Amino acid sequence: MSEVSQAGWKKCSACKKNIDFESVYYVCNVSTCNRKRTGLQFCGVSCWEVHLPVARHRESWAEDRRSPSRAEAARQAAAEASGEAPPRKPRRIIADKPASAARSVTASPSGMSAQSAAPEEVLIVASRLKEYVRASAGYKTSERVLGPLSDIVREVAEEAIRNARADGRMTVLDRDIPKSFRR
Ligand SMILES: [Zn+2]
Ligand SMILES: [Zn+2]
Repeated sequence: MSEVSQAGWKKCSACKKNIDFESVYYVCNVSTCNRKRTGLQFCGVSCWEVHLPVARHRESWAEDRRSPSRAEAARQAAAEASGEAPPRKPRRIIADKPASAARSVTASPSGMSAQSAAPEEVLIVASRLKEYVRASAGYKTSERVLGPLSDIVREVAEEAIRNARADGRMTVLDRDIPKSFRR
């Protein structure tokens, strides 16, 4: 499983396509899907969705990760072989993210600690979005739109949170969504 193949880093657990070195892949947030023996990894969120009916998680989401370089992978494999504990903390890196102007605008100066801990995951259900674009225009959708779209959702959510807070509520309601985004 941890063997470093020539073609890529690891194979997607769903479609078996190679996940390249130093590229974005997805894991399940549920710890049992990340045990060393299970070790599920997916090339895209739509592949992550494939395991859901089997896994029956109560609550789950896909987290994006970045695969190691070939050299890093070899080093990790060597460390594991020598019985050394591999680095514990999974790094959560969003790749190729342009220095996010949007986020710095929405970041609240009041510095809620919960906010800075908010995860930066893909919030868009890839399969639904793809279906929508296909139905609407007959076009395909690149996996790479999920990140920027998630940023937009986060930004709107942050504004809705501020509106709820201004209203003294701890529940975000539909009316907290900025008017320009409501139909
Ligand atoms: Zn896949
Ligand atoms: Zn899972």
